[in-house]
Amino acid sequence: MKDLKFDTKAIREGYRTTQEQEHSEAIFLTSSFVFDSAEQAANRFSKEEPGNIYARFTNPTVDAFEKKLAALEGADACVATSSGMAAIFASIMALCESGDHIVASRNMFGTSIVLLNTIVSKFNVGISYVDLGDLSQWQDAVQDNTKLFLLETPSNPLGEVVDITALSKISQANNILLAVDNAILSPALQNPIKLGADVVIHSATKYIDGQGRCLAGAVLANEAIIEQVSAFTRATGPSLSAFNAWIVLKGLDTLSLRMKAHSYNALKLATWLQTQDQVEKVHYLGLESHPNHTLASTQQSDFGGIVSFEVKGGREAAFKVINATEILSITANLGDTKTTITHPASTTHGRLTDNEKQQANINEGLIRISVGLEDVGDVINDISKGL
Ligand SMILES: *Cc1c(COP(=O)(O)O)cnc(C)c1O
Repeated sequence: MKDLKFDTKAIREGYRTTQEQEHSEAIFLTSSFVFDSAEQAANRFSKEEPGNIYARFTNPTVDAFEKKLAALEGADACVATSSGMAAIFASIMALCESGDHIVASRNMFGTSIVLLNTIVSKFNVGISYVDLGDLSQWQDAVQDNTKLFLLETPSNPLGEVVDITALSKISQANNILLAVDNAILSPALQNPIKLGADVVIHSATKYIDGQGRCLAGAVLANEAIIEQVSAFTRATGPSLSAFNAWIVLKGLDTLSLRMKAHSYNALKLATWLQTQDQVEKVHYLGLESHPNHTLASTQQSDFGGIVSFEVKGGREAAFKVINATEILSITANLGDTKTTITHPASTTHGRLTDNEKQQANINEGLIRISVGLEDVGDVINDISKGL
């Protein structure tokens, strides 16, 4: 289906019916598969004959999700995982060995940093952190044993961005794999592989499901890399369940429409916030005032649903805004149809020291909104109550 447009692939790719001729994709809730004969079993296990054996290895519903997501990211292959963290861990464990070194953006999802510092570091893999957008820091951090660059762009909550194409030139020149966590934009708004990245990682829990129903993740890359990652998931077990695969498969159908609506609502909210006296600063990539607006415009097709803003009066004022809302959900989750509101300094970034928070520009007055799909006028009214 190579020539088809994104929206068509999002509906049609990976679709295959059984002999029952069901129109919606079937959910194969089975742990194992049976064989016609002992010979067929032997051939399946020896890989002479392709086909299902056991759901830790493959499952038709999971396969449909992997094929569709690969088509949407412009990747050769995909392996689905039980969560976004499982996808990140599987990528690192498959691609790095003891003695290797990773350069990572310090502006990543908090648990990704915890994973690197407390788990990956136990396997004698060195880690250096750099500021996401500063290409010279990436270059300077390269060592002889550097195997992987790992980052998210744009970062959450402030929308820092790195030029993926420019960074891929540095990684390629040094024989390093460039892995991009694309959860914040989803394939509907950014395709890092087309920009030069080697690996794309997803928490499908976020926008790909988009409705807060389940955990899921995925790794996308060329066949050789995905073979290594799936060898890891087959042996260690963080495979995606068929039921959750079906949820995220259905999520992909409406992803592009939803991302347009998230982006539209987010820009409306950000534009309104800019006019409020009690708001010191608004961070949204879609605003021309954002320092990364131009760069983001060249590699993203829209700006997504995350808006942050700083209120005057620090933590007390921020808590007042959060507590005065009546519709919004007070939760640290993002990428849902429901708008969520959170105070990063005391939740998602609560583990950082005061100094680290200052370095990361996470101040006490900062509020993060993951703008959902409600009427944005109602969302604005709700936020205005505590301002
Ligand atoms: C949520 C998130 C993750 C972790 O995904 P889970 O599905 O919760 O394991 C990783 N990266 C980013 C950018 C996220 O937002």
